Amino acid sequence: MFIDPWILWLVTILVILLIGSFISMLVYRYPRMLLRDWQHECHALLKEYPTPIDAPFNLAWPGSFCPHCQHRIAWYDNVPLLGFLWQRGRCRHCQQAIAWRYPITECLCLISSLMVVFVFGWQWSLLAALVFTWLLLALSIIDIDHQWIPDSLSLGLLWLGLIVNNAQLFCPLSAAIWGAVIAYSSLWLIMTLYQLITGKVGMGHGDFKLFAALGAWLGLHALLPIILIATVLGSIVGLVLLATKRMSRQQPIPFGPFLAFAGWLVLLLFSKWPALYGLFLSW
Ligand SMILES: [Zn+2]
Repeated sequence: MFIDPWILWLVTILVILLIGSFISMLVYRYPRMLLRDWQHECHALLKEYPTPIDAPFNLAWPGSFCPHCQHRIAWYDNVPLLGFLWQRGRCRHCQQAIAWRYPITECLCLISSLMVVFVFGWQWSLLAALVFTWLLLALSIIDIDHQWIPDSLSLGLLWLGLIVNNAQLFCPLSAAIWGAVIAYSSLWLIMTLYQLITGKVGMGHGDFKLFAALGAWLGLHALLPIILIATVLGSIVGLVLLATKRMSRQQPIPFGPFLAFAGWLVLLLFSKWPALYGLFLSW
């Protein structure tokens, strides 16, 4: 069956934008949904714990609403990117500014996904690489917002990595299993020693699980480049934020987004230039 390339690209861009919009909603609602679940569990265990709100709140309900005036957002104002543009960045009802994070998330999703499409081309591994990209984007934003990565996202990513590599999509299964094991245990060991020596917590356990997930997707030999890129980038961004006084020394910087970006970059680099993978394999 012949599909006009223009139609294929148009549909691809539309689907990616819709997914970007879904990610925007997911990163806002999912942590709040988990928090409500925990409040219900606390209340069930400890009767003196305040009764949590019972109104339904999930990924499907309630529909999109303005956080300022609670007005429901019509479907035409909810179109990814365009909705923001034709409302000129303000709510149609209360004129309050719409947070920039929505169009930024949709743009990030579009740019990163299109780069993945360019590198992989139209093959099965493209679908897996896109899911990898979207999950990394979602958990990075949640980590920036809450300094926490939900287990369901990091561990779900880990299981998916093992499943796709059972078909050797990105690396052999044994490299994926050892990648996950060594990634988790190496960070755990370094951070436990750091905590014993300094008495400070250097990194959250969510980062160990995310690194393990990257090991499961990209294999043992991708761990070194990932941790190098993430550490260098994290240090540069940390220094810039300190120098420009946008954050204090006491404020922790989430490491998850740097790990996620490094993992995503290594996936693209290794797929575009397999010789690079060979280089780390020989190392
Ligand atoms: Zn409003």
